[in-house]
Amino acid sequence: MIRFTAKLGIYFMLLDNTKNGFTLKTNFELKKAYLLFKIISSRTLTNIGKTVLEISLKLRLPILFLIKKTVFEQFCSGESLDKSYETVKKLNLKNVKSYLHYSVEGLVSENSYDLALKEVLNSIEFVANKKILDFTVFKPTAVASSIILEKVSNKKALDTNELKEYDNAFQRFDKICRLAHIRGVKLLVDAEESWIQDAIDEIVLKMMKNYNKEKVIIFNTLQMYRHDRLKYLKKLKNEADKNNFLLGVKIVRGAYIEKENRRAKRKNYRSPICESKKLTDINFNEGVEFIISNLKVFSIFCGTHNEESIYKIIDIMNLKRIDKNSSKIWFGQLYGMSDNITFNLAAEGFNVIKYLPYGPIKEVIPYLIRRAEENTSVKGQTSRELDLIKLELKRRRSI
Ligand SMILES: Cc1cc2nc3c(=O)[nH]c(=O)nc-3n(C[C@H](O)[C@H](O)[C@H](O)COP(=O)(O)OP(=O)(O)OC[C@H]3O[C@@H](n4cnc5c(N)ncnc54)[C@H](O)[C@@H]3O)c2cc1C
Repeated sequence: MIRFTAKLGIYFMLLDNTKNGFTLKTNFELKKAYLLFKIISSRTLTNIGKTVLEISLKLRLPILFLIKKTVFEQFCSGESLDKSYETVKKLNLKNVKSYLHYSVEGLVSENSYDLALKEVLNSIEFVANKKILDFTVFKPTAVASSIILEKVSNKKALDTNELKEYDNAFQRFDKICRLAHIRGVKLLVDAEESWIQDAIDEIVLKMMKNYNKEKVIIFNTLQMYRHDRLKYLKKLKNEADKNNFLLGVKIVRGAYIEKENRRAKRKNYRSPICESKKLTDINFNEGVEFIISNLKVFSIFCGTHNEESIYKIIDIMNLKRIDKNSSKIWFGQLYGMSDNITFNLAAEGFNVIKYLPYGPIKEVIPYLIRRAEENTSVKGQTSRELDLIKLELKRRRSI
């Protein structure tokens, strides 16, 4: 393996191996992916696409087939759990694990929270019954009202109805975590906007205290673009030491940067986001180092497409002589992105897992729009995808 380090003067290239990286893609699929990333690398084309899509849906034009053949097939694993399981099996043949997420967003009623609860409980049973699956996931606002979560985060008093709603939400979290514990399924809880996150953190901490006694079942997500997260991480460790439980942490940089900064400006408070990308990177890497230095207490799931961070984690693991396939360290990437990271890590024997969103095409459109927008705003990521696809097509032509 791996790469150039100034100190060692060695050129390793683990993540550049495009043969491994695109092992599951046909030439046709590669060319299609190239065209798609080319389109979403342009803000103008992405905006035009979004508008055309919205109008077509309103006019009920038959556009779903086109979406299916393009963005849906690139970023989603299927329309149903069973269909997605075909993708899970394919990935597993290459030593890549999966976690499935019913990616329907924007639900906002007690009824829809109960439906989402049912979906998450089903997903736990589904994972428990499949040997090749270990994890499942849920988004807190799929089962709890963001209005109530915001009030609780701001320590505002709740009226009787709101207290009932909060209690219902807490019970939904508890049902999910209890079943995950009983069935031995690892559970990732996604992180959301900072103004509702304190309430989520408080609930998930209680869940970890209850259900992470013998092994790590519940993983909370820490967004290291927040300047207060390193401090919170250390606080979590103290809590765990004092109360004798284990910590699961999914560590990410964070997905809501524009929304966070906009709101902070509008409401005139200090943004919770680090002042620069560099500071976010430092925060992320320090967080990872802190966790990996305390594996007695922590298990870590590193959700990132940043190659420097991946190399850094591998360096730390090497330095601390931690096995590549330590059951306490997982790497995760989104389906349809950074396959070079996923498949090369898997080929080297690291624990690596793809996030597989699924659901009826019409319902997952908000997720697909977010994927396109994120790829448009993270320029480096998209041009890296394009370069790697070009390299692989060239390599295939030359053999
Ligand atoms: C498996 C997986 C699970 C995820 N789960 C969640 C989740 O639960 N919640 C969530 O919020 N996100 C989640 N994400 C998304 C994640 O937070 C990032 O948005 C995304 O992965 C891009 O970050 P990166 O580390 O891959 O790469 P990079 O391209 O190195 O980082 C881009 C990120 O850096 C930060 N950044 C960019 N510019 C600046 C700036 N000027 N100042 C400060 N920071 C900046 C932002 O967070 C941006 O998204 C998940 C990602 C993966 C792969």
